[in-house]
Amino acid sequence: MGAPTASGTASPHQNGTATTSASWSVEVVYRGIFQKRLANRISRGVVLGARKEGKVGTAFARYGDSPERNGIPAKNFAVVATDEVQLESSLARYEPESVDVSIVLDDTMCKGVESWAWYGVQPINKLVVPGGSLVVTSDKQPDELLRAVKVKPYAYNLVVVPSPVHAGVFAPEGSASFAGLWVDNDDNTDFKCLVAVARVAPQILTLDSVLDIVRERTNDEGRVEAVRAIYDQIKIRHVEPGEGSTVDHEEYQKPGWTQMREGIVVEAMQVGTRNPLYKKWSTRTRRPLVNFDTCIKCTQCWLQCPDECFEVTPEGTYEVVYEACIGCSICEEVCPVPDCITMVNELAFDNNDNLYPMYASDPEGYRGFLQQHGIALHPELIEKAKKTPAVHQQPEYPSKKQKQPVVAGGEE
Ligand code: SF4
Ligand code: SF4
Repeated sequence: MGAPTASGTASPHQNGTATTSASWSVEVVYRGIFQKRLANRISRGVVLGARKEGKVGTAFARYGDSPERNGIPAKNFAVVATDEVQLESSLARYEPESVDVSIVLDDTMCKGVESWAWYGVQPINKLVVPGGSLVVTSDKQPDELLRAVKVKPYAYNLVVVPSPVHAGVFAPEGSASFAGLWVDNDDNTDFKCLVAVARVAPQILTLDSVLDIVRERTNDEGRVEAVRAIYDQIKIRHVEPGEGSTVDHEEYQKPGWTQMREGIVVEAMQVGTRNPLYKKWSTRTRRPLVNFDTCIKCTQCWLQCPDECFEVTPEGTYEVVYEACIGCSICEEVCPVPDCITMVNELAFDNNDNLYPMYASDPEGYRGFLQQHGIALHPELIEKAKKTPAVHQQPEYPSKKQKQPVVAGGEE
């Protein structure tokens, strides 16, 4: 199978051809903490492979993601150049504003990413140059992922590195491989991503260099051959201008330095309101769906959620505010009712809307929605749930403006 030249169109950094003077950038987008080591291995591997071919380069983490948080999208970069002058001119920027290859280590981030502080949502392909490549590790087909990836006005390649579903705490049904502070899967994911770079951007590093790295690190010819085989298994989908998701992401205007306040202030919020500067979108790999019919109002989810995501509904059941949810699964773990809270892969959703309004306006439709996600309804539990008294009531607030959203227990 031929190797399309992802950077066959000129990169903005490119000044001539690979044989004269040029530089290229690779971005690695990963789940903070959980995939930190994996991301480091990939970005350093890009530089190491390029150096084997006489180029120069450096790998670094984005300062804005420090300190990292569990699961929050974070970034590493590798910049490679034909010579020191090119490299230094590329590094004069705070971080690359465009990249030839962007590597995404969890396919649920195809929907876009936000930093640990809320600066709005950045399309996952935002930095990819015309003709560049968005490389995603996934068990899905490129067309399935493209539905979630924001449209671009120019053509690029969507590249899928086959990754099997991994068992794990954070995303039991996901295909993300973890190698970070808590776990260390040495499952070739780093090498596979380097092979993908070699396939779509051989001007950065070649397959032979990648295989040399595998040989040096593992001293195992079996792994070298396994990694070599990945080259032809990589799926490449040419994406035309305008193809992809047209869902609008929420924008955030960063204040200029003259508008910033002194010091670091996290303002206390009035009861019944949430801090608009701390929102979640792609932080989670899965989201909890609540069966309002079978909720027995035991308050366990409301008590145990680490991010105080639950609000009380008019019936005294509890709904999730997705803008606050990090997808930790604790609510699913503590809920005593079978299938009353179920975690569902985040790629199935293209908005952050709370779901109680859907249930309130069309209960039957909501039940069908739960079934579509494979959730058993347990009609035998509904009567018992209806009879359980509410613990919290929706509090009354003096002004309509303060009334929505309502934080459960805010009446105390
Ligand atoms: S998954 Fe559940 S417990 Fe965890 S943050 Fe979201 S709502 Fe809260
Ligand atoms: S833990 Fe389950 S049953 Fe208890 S209030 Fe929450 S959703 Fe309802």
